[in-house]
Amino acid sequence: MHELSLMDGIFSRAEAALKPYGSVKVNSLTVRIGPLANIMPAAFDFAFEALSAGGIFEGAQLITEPLPITARCQACDREFASRALPLICPDCAAREVMVTGGDEVYLASIDFNEEGEAIAD
Ligand SMILES: [Zn+2]
Repeated sequence: MHELSLMDGIFSRAEAALKPYGSVKVNSLTVRIGPLANIMPAAFDFAFEALSAGGIFEGAQLITEPLPITARCQACDREFASRALPLICPDCAAREVMVTGGDEVYLASIDFNEEGEAIAD
């Protein structure tokens, strides 16, 4: 279950980002997930619950946002984005495409109070 290790990495990154603010109350974490990342939503939610217990993320909400799959057409070189498979070039309808993105999982933003503003990148 790679969701646990991914979530562990997300919490580490969030903790590092929040460190300068001292004591904070985290309301939510927004994580962007590519369709090719092979994330099972139930396992991801479980990892969030399990790893947030007893820490600064306890009681926070996990918000996930889907990323597109990006690809480059091997026939006409067009780059395009798609929400789902199969990948077909929107210009020339070729199916010979090279996937260039869509397997990313990353922390997009943190909503917290005390110091007020959300961290975004
Ligand atoms: Zn094409």
